[in-house]
Amino acid sequence: MLLRPKIFWRKSLEAKPWDVLVVGAGITGLETAKLLGEMGFDVLLVEKKPQLGGHAALYQCKALDGKCVECGACLVGDAQRKVLSNKKVVPMTGTTILNCQREGNLFKLELVREGVVSFASAKAVILCNGFRPFDPSTQKNLSYGKSNSILTALEVEDILRNNGKLLRPGSHEVPKSICFIQCVGSRNERNIYCSRVCCGYAIRIANLLKSLQPDLDITFFYMDIQTFSRSFVDDWAKIREKFTFIRQIPGELIPNKDGTISIYAKIDGVIKELFYDLVILSCGITPSEDLDQLAQIFKMKKNKDGFLSPSPENGVFALGTATGPKGIADCIAEVRCGLGGVVEYLEAWR
Ligand code: SF4
Ligand code: SF4
Repeated sequence: MLLRPKIFWRKSLEAKPWDVLVVGAGITGLETAKLLGEMGFDVLLVEKKPQLGGHAALYQCKALDGKCVECGACLVGDAQRKVLSNKKVVPMTGTTILNCQREGNLFKLELVREGVVSFASAKAVILCNGFRPFDPSTQKNLSYGKSNSILTALEVEDILRNNGKLLRPGSHEVPKSICFIQCVGSRNERNIYCSRVCCGYAIRIANLLKSLQPDLDITFFYMDIQTFSRSFVDDWAKIREKFTFIRQIPGELIPNKDGTISIYAKIDGVIKELFYDLVILSCGITPSEDLDQLAQIFKMKKNKDGFLSPSPENGVFALGTATGPKGIADCIAEVRCGLGGVVEYLEAWR
């Protein structure tokens, strides 16, 4: 019974060369497909996950008292709706690229979906394969996975979505004091670059938590705070009043039997043991899990940080976090600038 839609899928894919293959349907891929579709190009949008939207679809609105804080989360749903209503764009979820051969200027593609291999061809390829959040379990000193009181910021979003307030997983206790650890997986020997988005992301979550739980005591352990919005300089004074900022990154997070976490920090020249009910890790951006494979298939080079280095002269473009860390607004801005080169390349076919 399942064969018929698969056969239809295969035939419709192979019927004609697509103007553009877009790989990845996070915010960058959606915005790219949306704009190209609106310009009248035939777009095949391939996403390896079962759903569209990527990481950004997991973020919730962080508006405060009904005032937008420009987190960009709602832009994903908007782009998704426009993609799904545009007949020029065909989204294929659960699909990965197995291989690609050049035949003249055409890209002859081998794709797999639900175990069925199929073929398609495209005039240009845009890699929007996104990023992978740093996995904190690979850094032993963070004790991630050893205590319910050590969470990633994304896990906190999940708790807020399900409970409407921050609770410690397992015990469901309401925490009184929490801290954010910034630069987890960034600006270290492994990844020397700044992930650019996690300062703004953490401060927006902290603001949201403070508005939901005004008694919550929030501390940031940080190196530098990256500015992230036009109004940030004005907001910074207010932010400093609301939260405690300790300019150092803790060497170790130590889970205690009562569920609290101990952190040793040097305060006014004296090393002190500080206790927190919950620790939130601001994990950075790393290259996506399929980046090496895509780089090999499309003969792309990587930059010094391990992200894609675009080679648009070959008809292969890369946009968004595929080329390095950036936030939702910057991904969209890059698409709007970068599509000029894609359109120019495609015009040569007409
Ligand atoms: S940009 Fe963010 S804060 Fe503003 S409305 Fe959209 S989701 Fe809410
Ligand atoms: S954005 Fe902030 S938390 Fe993230 S790596 Fe840069 S300085 Fe660190």
